[in-house]
Amino acid sequence: MNIVVTGGAGFIGSAVIRFIIEHTQNRVLNVDKLTYAGNLESLKDVEKNERYSFAQVDICNCEKIEQLFQEFKPDAVMHLAAESHVDRSITGPAEFIQTNIVGTYTLLEAARKYWLGLEGNAKEEFIFHHISTDEVYGDLPHPSETSEELPLFTEETPYAPSSPYSASKASSDHLVRAWQRTYGLPTVITNCSNNYGPYHFPEKLIPLVILNALEGKELPIYGQGDQIRDWLFVEDHARALYKVVTEGVNGETYNIGGHNEKQNIEVVRAICDLLDEFRPKETKYSEQIVHVSDRPGHDRRYAIDASKMAEELSWKPLESFETGLRKTVLWYLENQVWCENIQDGSYQRERLGILENG
Ligand code: NAD
Repeated sequence: MNIVVTGGAGFIGSAVIRFIIEHTQNRVLNVDKLTYAGNLESLKDVEKNERYSFAQVDICNCEKIEQLFQEFKPDAVMHLAAESHVDRSITGPAEFIQTNIVGTYTLLEAARKYWLGLEGNAKEEFIFHHISTDEVYGDLPHPSETSEELPLFTEETPYAPSSPYSASKASSDHLVRAWQRTYGLPTVITNCSNNYGPYHFPEKLIPLVILNALEGKELPIYGQGDQIRDWLFVEDHARALYKVVTEGVNGETYNIGGHNEKQNIEVVRAICDLLDEFRPKETKYSEQIVHVSDRPGHDRRYAIDASKMAEELSWKPLESFETGLRKTVLWYLENQVWCENIQDGSYQRERLGILENG
């Protein structure tokens, strides 16, 4: 198969590309604009493989995208490129509307044009896989608010996004569904819970806490830290996405999650405990925890029912939260250079080199 992966220099996209190159014989074209969140150093292990190629292209550039599709002739498009950080969407929503909505529209139109030109089996087998989030469903009742059984997000949960980020992702999901229903473009959508693992950009909770803790900085927690997220190890997500793109049914949506509901404060304490074990110092890392005012519109609880993935595609996560978090903390301890290159901005200077070299 020839697979276009958009956003392949990001956290999840790079895990998907590493998975495909290491575990299959498929070819991958990584289409990424390289925003602040894109880091080609996350692809060092596969960049020399002849089945991997890279194009620095904005998904909003329809001419370039159409040209790439004609040249690479994809059997599948896995669309991960997005602006993904909720806090940034609150302070500057414009980029989120542009990339997440206009960018998805542009890709869909380029994919439709390309797909219309395919013939026979190729036409039936082409698939556009849109990667989305459980945040499109809004939030769920928190255990502190109800004594009734706690519900989970299913594929039928109505959309109720809270932040500019989740609203832009919800819009893109609707566009994908409409392109399937109206134009017949073969599509699948996946909605996944919070990911964690190696190569996660240090603005997100888990890497931020690890790196701040090691530097002796404060560990900021929104409000009481009792918000609940359902955590999934990124390599389990990458494996799930490959299952869906190769075995998923046209027009279907699949929820992906790890059955790991944790309060944010529990996550931060667990990281501190691991650091106490791996890098002991005189004081406990948990003493660095500080509570800061809560994010506006902060969702209280997310939790995914991933039974459709288990029953229809025989997928289940391999990592528990405990084993996955241990691997993650060790990875950050062993890959200080990757982190330092982000912290001092050199991962972007290397990128300027790429641009200068054409
Ligand atoms: P990320 O921010 O780490 O990476 C996004 C990538 O997209 C970056 O490499 C960036 O350079 C690229 N990009 C941004 N705008 C672009 C544009 N206009 N054209 C081309 N490339 C562009 O994001 P992530 O955490 O890897 O998330 C990937 C996808 O998975 C997103 O669609 C996100 O909504 C979804 N998702 C993420 C999570 C999570 O926990 N991180 C959970 C569920 C779903």
